[in-house]
Amino acid sequence: MFWDQEIETLPRPELEQLQLKRLQKTVRRVASQSDYYRQKFADTGVKPSAIKTLADLRRLPFTTSADLRTNYPYGLLVKGKESPIRLHTSSGTTGKPKALFFSRNDIDQSAENIARCLVMAGLGPQDVVQNMMTYGMFTGALVMHYGAEKVGSLVIPAGPGNSEKQLLLMQDFRTTAIHVTPSYALYFADFLEKKGIDPRKDLVLRLAFIGAEPYTEETRRKIEDALGVQVFNCYGLSEMNGPGVAFECAAKAGMHLWEDNFLLEIIDPQTGEPLPDGQTGELVLTTLCREAMPILRYRTRDITAIIPEPCPCGRTHRRLQRITGRSDDMLIIRGANVYPQQIERVLMSIPGLGRNYLIVLEGLDEMTVKVEVSDANFDGQVEHLVRLQNQTMEKLRAEIMVRPKVELVMPGSLPASEGKAKRVIDKRVL
Ligand code: ADP
Ligand code: ZN
Repeated sequence: MFWDQEIETLPRPELEQLQLKRLQKTVRRVASQSDYYRQKFADTGVKPSAIKTLADLRRLPFTTSADLRTNYPYGLLVKGKESPIRLHTSSGTTGKPKALFFSRNDIDQSAENIARCLVMAGLGPQDVVQNMMTYGMFTGALVMHYGAEKVGSLVIPAGPGNSEKQLLLMQDFRTTAIHVTPSYALYFADFLEKKGIDPRKDLVLRLAFIGAEPYTEETRRKIEDALGVQVFNCYGLSEMNGPGVAFECAAKAGMHLWEDNFLLEIIDPQTGEPLPDGQTGELVLTTLCREAMPILRYRTRDITAIIPEPCPCGRTHRRLQRITGRSDDMLIIRGANVYPQQIERVLMSIPGLGRNYLIVLEGLDEMTVKVEVSDANFDGQVEHLVRLQNQTMEKLRAEIMVRPKVELVMPGSLPASEGKAKRVIDKRVL
């Protein structure tokens, strides 16, 4: 199933030619119409005419999230004929947010990207999409909203939270697809279990588009089992239009990144040098079609690898592996490098554990993993709990090489998350 078969299956040589043409146009535009890039090109001695092949991309300077913040609010806006018609901001975890501007064509292009993704996952006009992401300044909900409307589905702008209302909408309007974060999907699965709702019998859900934060294969399986849906991994970031930058096809083995819209590089995060396909590093993206705010070589800090093999679905746009986290997510605990995703993978693979967890770092380097036990498996017997606790500790130690404290807590007792989950609390005195 294709939304735009011609472009999605464009032979690589033609795709690369299209990329080069669009890259050259973008570079010429920012050199003449963006104060920020004009200055940056002057500082680094870049001449737009030097971009003769795609390999010349590496002559261009990187753009970082610090650049976006420093030049907030209007610094990266391009002064073109078309004035921007929409502003989004990206979650400013520290200090100022990043301002992102969209022209009319940018909005249409981002909806077009999502439409491709959704049809690839099997969505159609007969579907009812319940959009459980946060509406407002974030790109997540609105970009998906426009894309699903483009496909012709009925879109319910539910927003996150209020699980009772979500359930009511699902029952009354016979929702077939949801767009949700992995943490809220897990929480919602718990909620249904407590209400005695069996999604396979009582609801008609079949598809879930899940992204906005990293999650593991084990979490995908948990959500698929609990909600009776097919989960498709959806990747995006506000700096690149929001969700739908890359998305899984029916093979569910990596996310196709729409290379007619974005140039894709993987670099070594330490040296900034490009890495060959297949090697894990930091994803760097360049917009190829953006009008209001083109961004060159944006350092996403997201860690992934390109899957070089062609995909059985016939799409020629290369796939990304599941994002394992951000380069700045890494925790250093007693000298060992630990990614929260490693911990999640272990927790989600142990049947007696529930779906919510929290990693707390305290003191000098003490790590406590708090995890809810599963309601269904909880029989209240102390020796069972002790066994589960030891098993969890051992499995974590084998994975991360550090022995954490494990605290089993009652189902439903950890803070529930509706948007992006906060999984790590770092109170260390380092
Ligand atoms: P949005 O508002 O669209 O969620 P943000 O810019 O706030 O965008 O967040 C984007 C970041 O979220 C990405 O850089 C990445 O770290 C994370 N993210 C988004 N989708 C996924 C995904 N499918 N898997 C892992 N991480 C993701
Ligand atoms: Zn595919």
